[in-house]
Amino acid sequence: MTPDTDIETRPYLLEQVDEAAVVQLYADGFTALPLNDKILIWHLYQAALAGRDIYYDQRHRMALEMRAVLEAVLRYPGGVDETALAEIRRYTKLFWINSGPYNNLTARKFVLQLDPDVFRAAVAAAALNGARLPGRAGETPAELVDRLAPMFFDPSVDPFVTSKAPQDGRDILESSANNLYSGVRMDDLEPIGDSAGFTERFGLNSRLVKRDDGSLEEQVYRLEWMYGHAIARICRHLADAMPYATPAMRRALEALVKFYRTGEEADRIAYDIAWVEDRDSPVDTINGFVEVYMDARGVKGAWEALVYYVNPIKTAGIRRLAAAAPWFEARMPWDPKWRRPDVRGVTATAIDVVVETGDSGPVTPVGINLPNDQAIREEHGSKSVSLSNVAEAYDKSTPSSFRKEFAWSEEEAGRAERWSSFASELTTNIHEVLGHGSGRVAGPATGHAETVQPHLALKELYSTLEEARADLVALYFVADPKMVELELVPTADHAEIVLAEYEAYARNALVQLRRVREGSTIEEDHMRNRQLIVHWLLANSGAIEIRRRDGKTYHVVVDVDAFRDGAARLLAEVQRIKSEGDYEAGRALIETYAVHFDPALRDEIVERVAKLNMPSYTGFVQPKLEPVRDTSGEIVDIAISYPLDLEAQMLEWSGRA
Ligand SMILES: [Zn+2]
Repeated sequence: MTPDTDIETRPYLLEQVDEAAVVQLYADGFTALPLNDKILIWHLYQAALAGRDIYYDQRHRMALEMRAVLEAVLRYPGGVDETALAEIRRYTKLFWINSGPYNNLTARKFVLQLDPDVFRAAVAAAALNGARLPGRAGETPAELVDRLAPMFFDPSVDPFVTSKAPQDGRDILESSANNLYSGVRMDDLEPIGDSAGFTERFGLNSRLVKRDDGSLEEQVYRLEWMYGHAIARICRHLADAMPYATPAMRRALEALVKFYRTGEEADRIAYDIAWVEDRDSPVDTINGFVEVYMDARGVKGAWEALVYYVNPIKTAGIRRLAAAAPWFEARMPWDPKWRRPDVRGVTATAIDVVVETGDSGPVTPVGINLPNDQAIREEHGSKSVSLSNVAEAYDKSTPSSFRKEFAWSEEEAGRAERWSSFASELTTNIHEVLGHGSGRVAGPATGHAETVQPHLALKELYSTLEEARADLVALYFVADPKMVELELVPTADHAEIVLAEYEAYARNALVQLRRVREGSTIEEDHMRNRQLIVHWLLANSGAIEIRRRDGKTYHVVVDVDAFRDGAARLLAEVQRIKSEGDYEAGRALIETYAVHFDPALRDEIVERVAKLNMPSYTGFVQPKLEPVRDTSGEIVDIAISYPLDLEAQMLEWSGRA
């Protein structure tokens, strides 16, 4: 397929696997980039693929072995019964999309629905046909399958990758099956009596292991230690990229390689600063241990990589928003003492992604704001990107029947059709550009002796509250006349756009319940924050009504002004909680509004979605890059193509390493 294929007719939705949509991502601007930038992207692309397996291993200690067994069967399927092969293929596709055996959104394990004997036979057949299997020395294919069987088949073994609120009050680390810890409980870390507790030296980039003698060991993710082989490959590709980078980007890449080499906190800080200070390069990458959602404690970083280039037209609009950051900060609807007197460095860019791996692909965010280090954000600012081609692919792959089902009226459905994609791009930009970068915490500048470190004070609540804070900033300011003044929305349509956004937000709190098929609690931070906001508004404002018709439940926005006013009041409280590190108030807010839902309502939503056969999340098939060389081996171009096939891409990527 050629990259200039007609945008209206080319395929986006490729297939649906259970509740997952598989969608092709396009990077239309790539072919027009200068050769230098294409070669730069090529090396960064390889660095992104080189670390992919790190994330699988972080998700579960057996995930890579499981993947290798599954891929062996799909590569050598000779002699495997067709029904069995179809089930193995279904499970493997979900495994690839979610980078392991856990649903990306619900954190719950999914299993292979096959007789273990049939699977054992399939693996044995693959081995006979020439497949190379993983496993321990001397292990037969049958022994290998038996060892992995509890993970493949038993939903009660290691049921959650992350469990921030275990139902039986169990320890959050013990209840989380990820590989960020081994044998460690929260009370191994917390001070008891005279013991000072355990202070990590490598909080973000290590696996914490309890040894037989009870002491704790940090296994550091760095060259020549944990994940050292993958990190060595990443560093080689980053070094290959450096000659093609701008001076500012080159400094960032050098700092990143140094951090990968030492693993030291000081080098991580140096890298974060170098990365955030590179504001104008047309190409950029994120590569490392970044987001902390997978860790129930919110400390350990999940590995991810993105490679992208700037989308100049969309970026112009976002830059106007960013330039006005001081105007917005001065009008944040919270106690003036939590407003930052100097908002600097809010850099925002609309980008097109070429590849995303690890924690950011095949399931991808639509906006990113980094670095996460609060001290660096306050001193050096942050960089914010919105993923234009991802948002476009989401929009193009969503059928309109989905919006209609949850809209109370024809008018609401029409507004959603016309504006929800536009409004959601705008609010995502406000969330990233103005939301996360805003506000300040208690410290000497506000007359407090100690500087609050919100993520330490708020612990497992931090991510949910921070996402809520950024969402509320967006919901509050999207209705501000400043949006028109900045030419971000047309005057005549502003009111309708705001209503469409508020309606979409209220609907979303219902619709997202489809993603939590079991239980009656929500774990994922972004889902929690949306429940928090909508349920708080339901209880504390007259903005939204719950209505029922024909056995169906609807959230109906009845008062736009009350919605905006309510968002402002909740925002003031969430900002206070962050600024003061008020754990108890944060916990009460989340416990009351964000965590629990009525399973009967969820069942209703699931049934409505099932009738539409709608996916609940999306995994992206990404562009494929290949160097074009002349007879002397010199790279003369980088060709981009679109595989339109998840299985082909995943098998190719696994075969590279
Ligand atoms: Zn966010």
